[in-house]
Amino acid sequence: MRQSADDVFLEVNESHSISYGEGEQLSAQLANKLSEMGLQPGARVTAQVEKSYQVVILYLACFRAGLIFHPLNTAYTLNELEHFLADAQPSLLVSSSKRCSEAQTLIKQHAIQSVLTLEADGAGTLWEDIASYSDSFEVVHKAKDDTALLIYTSGTTGKPKGAMITHENLSSNAQSLIECWGWQKHDVLVHVLPLFHVHGLCVGLHLPILLGSKVIFQAKFSVERTIDCLAKATVMMAVPTIYTRLLSNARLNKEICRTMRVFISGSAPLLPETFAEFEARTGFRILERYGMSEAQMITSNPLKGERLAGTVGYPLLDIRVRICGDDGVLLGSGEIGSLEIAGPNVFAGYWRNPDATHSAFTNDGYFITGDLASVDENGVVTIVGRDKDLIISAGLNVYPREIELELNQLAGVADSAVFGVPHADLGEGVVAAVIRQSAAVNEVDLLKALKPNLSAFKVPGKIVFVEELPRNAMGKIEKNRLRETYCSVLSDT
Ligand code: AMP
Repeated sequence: MRQSADDVFLEVNESHSISYGEGEQLSAQLANKLSEMGLQPGARVTAQVEKSYQVVILYLACFRAGLIFHPLNTAYTLNELEHFLADAQPSLLVSSSKRCSEAQTLIKQHAIQSVLTLEADGAGTLWEDIASYSDSFEVVHKAKDDTALLIYTSGTTGKPKGAMITHENLSSNAQSLIECWGWQKHDVLVHVLPLFHVHGLCVGLHLPILLGSKVIFQAKFSVERTIDCLAKATVMMAVPTIYTRLLSNARLNKEICRTMRVFISGSAPLLPETFAEFEARTGFRILERYGMSEAQMITSNPLKGERLAGTVGYPLLDIRVRICGDDGVLLGSGEIGSLEIAGPNVFAGYWRNPDATHSAFTNDGYFITGDLASVDENGVVTIVGRDKDLIISAGLNVYPREIELELNQLAGVADSAVFGVPHADLGEGVVAAVIRQSAAVNEVDLLKALKPNLSAFKVPGKIVFVEELPRNAMGKIEKNRLRETYCSVLSDT
C-alpha cells in the first residue's frame, strides 16, 4: 500500500470525499459486521445493487473477511436472479428493499442465511449501524488460488456460468496493468463504469488502490459531468459507447482534456472512426485493450509507441496467446483462428461446473476465449470476430440463447434466432428473427411478453418475421447470414 490515510480515495461528489484512511476504517467496520453475522470465509455475498461508494466498501470488506464477492447487474429481473441464487448459493444477499421483498420466495427457497438492504443513496440495513462496529479487523488470510470473486458470464447454453477469479488472478493483472499503463500515485481516474463487471470493479479500482491514487466516482454516467471531471483527471476507462456519447457533446475538446494522460477503451470493439474522431477533437489516441471476465485484461496497445486503431495490442506481462485452427493446429502470423491464452490472469474454472470448465480449456491448459483473432509478425493482436454466440450492446453482454428460450415459449412462436447488428450508439443492437405460427402474432405483443422476464438491455430492438431460419448442413442456424440480411434494420433507431 503506497497511500497515506489522508489521501483522497473516492471523490463521491463536489462536497464529499472518502480518504484512504476512512476507506480502511469503513471496510474494517463492515468486515466486522459481516463476520459477526456468522458469514464464514469462502461464503458468497451476492450484491445486486446500484453503484455507490458503499458497494466499493462492501467489496473491500469481503476481501478482508475472506468472503467471495458476487456482483450482479441491477437490470436483471427476478426471473433472472433465480438462476444466480440457485447456482452461487450465497449466504448473504444485498439488494434494494424493493428487490429483497420481491425475492422473498426465492430467499426462502434457496435458504439464504442473511439479507441486507442497500439503496442507491446508501440507505438501508447494510450501512445504517456501521459506526457501531470496531474499526480494526484482522484480515482473514486467503491462499493465492482461493476464489475472491464470482463473475457470471457466457451463457451460450442459455444459463450464465460463474467464473471463479482468484486472488492471484486479481493481483497479477493489476500489477501488469500498472506497469503497462505507467500508473502513478498522482493519477486521477474518472470512474464511470459499473461495478458488476471486471472492467469497472477490478481494473477501475485495483490500480488506484494499489498506488493510493484518487478516483472521481460517478454513480451514474452523465456526459456533462464526465466532461467536467476530465478537466481535473489524468486517466479515463470506458466502453466505446461512452466515447461516442462524449463525442456527441460540443464541450469535448483539447482544452477540457489538458490534464489528461490517457483514455482507455475496452469490453467491446472500438470503431476506427471513433478512434479517429476522438483524436481529431481531443488530440488523444484512445488506448484500446482487450479482456474478458474469465481473464480480466489480456492484451493492450502500448502507452508509449504506436496505438493502432482496430487492434488490441500486445499480450500483458506473463500472458501467452496463440491462434489455433479448427483442428487445434497452431496458425502462423496473420492467420485468423481461435484465440487461446494462458497466464496468471486466467480464472480457476466455472463455479461448480467441471464440465464447462473442462470444455473451456485445451489439453495443454490454454483457455479458449471464444474470440476469433490474428497475431501479426510483431505480436500485435487483432480481434476479428467471435466464435461464441454473444452480442455486446453498450458494453453489456447479451447471450442470444437466453432470449431465444424466452421467445420460444411464447404462444404463436415456432422458432427464433437472436443476433446482433451494428448500432450507431450501442455498438451492437439486439434483433430477433421469429417464425410465427399465425399472422396474428405481432412484434408489439411479443416484446410486451418478453419485458417482465428479461433485463431491458436484452429485449430486442427489432423483431423480424421469417418463413424459415437459414441453417447449414449440420442444421445449425447461420447467424452470419441473418446479420448480413438485417444489418441495417436498426440503423434508423
Ligand atoms: P466480458 O466477459 O463481459 O468482459 O466480455 C468479453 C468479450 O468482450 C470478449 O471475449 C470479446 O468478445 C469482447 N471484447 C472485450 N474487449 C474487446 C475489444 N477491445 N475488442 C473487441 N472485443 C472485445
